[in-house]
Amino acid sequence: MATIAENLARIREQIAEACRRSGRAEADVALMAVSKMHPAAAIREAWQAGQRLFGENRVQEWQEKQQSLTDLFPPATSATGHSGAEAAKVHLIGPLQSNKTNRAAELFDAIDTVDSLKIATRLNTAAQAVGMRLPVLIEVKLSHEESKHGVVPGELGCLLEGVSALANLVAGGLMTVPPWSEQAEPARPYFRELRRLRDEFLPRYPTLTGLSMGMSNDFTVGIEEGSTCVRVGTALFGKRDYSMSKSQLIESN
Ligand SMILES: *Cc1c(COP(=O)(O)O)cnc(C)c1O
Repeated sequence: MATIAENLARIREQIAEACRRSGRAEADVALMAVSKMHPAAAIREAWQAGQRLFGENRVQEWQEKQQSLTDLFPPATSATGHSGAEAAKVHLIGPLQSNKTNRAAELFDAIDTVDSLKIATRLNTAAQAVGMRLPVLIEVKLSHEESKHGVVPGELGCLLEGVSALANLVAGGLMTVPPWSEQAEPARPYFRELRRLRDEFLPRYPTLTGLSMGMSNDFTVGIEEGSTCVRVGTALFGKRDYSMSKSQLIESN
């Protein structure tokens, strides 16, 4: 079985190739390591291989795991641990309940799944309380699957207008999760649609440059369609084991 470092090298090469194919600069595509349901030790291993951007789905799970990783993810106020380019960042990429917005604003460097003005307003209040501007992405629901989250395209304009009035949030782009498929191509029309929406609203909201789209099975297609952040879990860390216990997840070695 390949190590995390080997997987990372392979994925980076695939990203570089997709960038060359589509005439894009590699520096314009961030690789997010999606570490949900993988232990803290796997995150440390990825960090040692040079990975700095991570994505987690649950507030609670990250709160527990980060306790054994505080040297890699120093709190904003901490003078110890790594700083500057060495410090890792973690984004929330799973659904956020309104009773967890305060904790989420404290624990994450960005929230990539804002899909309602209610959540945005609560995050804004939390960010204001700690005197920061919190980067967010707006999650758009393009698939008709019940299980998917996000604002529907018809309400995106209204949500963006509301979020732009919140002084402590910065909407840095759009994010989507297409219907799951083993193949990459079925995702293409969803990625294209997200990009079209971004292009439509960018003139009015100049910070809305980002497009978080593409996962293990389809990130090269995501890059071809303009993704600025691919969220890769399985291809980097292996299959998730949903029977893993809390203590196994927070084990640090
Ligand atoms: C789990 C997850 C990913 C990573 O999926 P893989 O197929 O394992 O790469 C990316 N984005 C979101 C929102 C996820 O929940």
